Amino acid sequence: MLVDSHCHLDFPDFAEERAAIVVRALAAGVGRMVTISTRVRRFQQIVEIAETFNEVYCSVGTHPHNAAEELDVTADELVRLSGHPKVVAIGEAGLDYHYDKAPRDAQAQGFRAHIAAARRTGLPLVIHARNADDDMASILEDETGKGAFPFILHCFSSGRRLAEVGVALGGYVSFSGILTFKNSPDLRAIAADVPRDRLLVETDAPYLAPIPHRGKRNEPAYVTNTAKVLAETIGVSETEIAYITTGNFFRLFTKMPRPDMARI
Ligand SMILES: [Zn+2]
Ligand SMILES: [Zn+2]
Repeated sequence: MLVDSHCHLDFPDFAEERAAIVVRALAAGVGRMVTISTRVRRFQQIVEIAETFNEVYCSVGTHPHNAAEELDVTADELVRLSGHPKVVAIGEAGLDYHYDKAPRDAQAQGFRAHIAAARRTGLPLVIHARNADDDMASILEDETGKGAFPFILHCFSSGRRLAEVGVALGGYVSFSGILTFKNSPDLRAIAADVPRDRLLVETDAPYLAPIPHRGKRNEPAYVTNTAKVLAETIGVSETEIAYITTGNFFRLFTKMPRPDMARI
């Protein structure tokens, strides 16, 4: 069994077809999906999707793109909302200096509120980091110094040093379809050096469909393509990569009911 640790099933791309997409994921061996919140103000819609499907769980948080609109979201509110039984993570939050859709100080402020919520709840923080390697590394070092919290560098596409800092601080590194792209040899080299017990896979659907679906709408079933390339990259079989990444997933997402690992 594989897990899609990061998708966006609430996006309009999936509106009519959500049930069919979940069925296709299950048929492909993708047994759990975490649909990730990008706006706390739309949390209710995310929760309803998670409540509809047994195998779908969710997070609560504000994407850095929306940080300026949700600066009033406090760690207290995130902690309160995360009490819902289907909420298994905080985020996605972080720093995106590629698009710079929100002022950088607002992104950092929101990010630190999410870190506080992750520290208090023990739920993993889903971190979005793009073109912000130095600031991300320094905030992670600073905040970890105040007290550890579990986290994932999701859709990892940053430089080697950020991966190393994240791993040194106890974090996990999640790879998306970017890993499969021909022009990603540097990313595969980084993935090969991440300790096996810190590796995760995701789709970030509807974006970033892996090869051979590149350019099309992505969906959770396609995490199988990324897992296959990750297996080749680190030199293990497809059965082993499922065991490694799914085992890591359940070790990190501690609130998620754990299946019998002997059967996956
Ligand atoms: Zn993201
Ligand atoms: Zn995302």
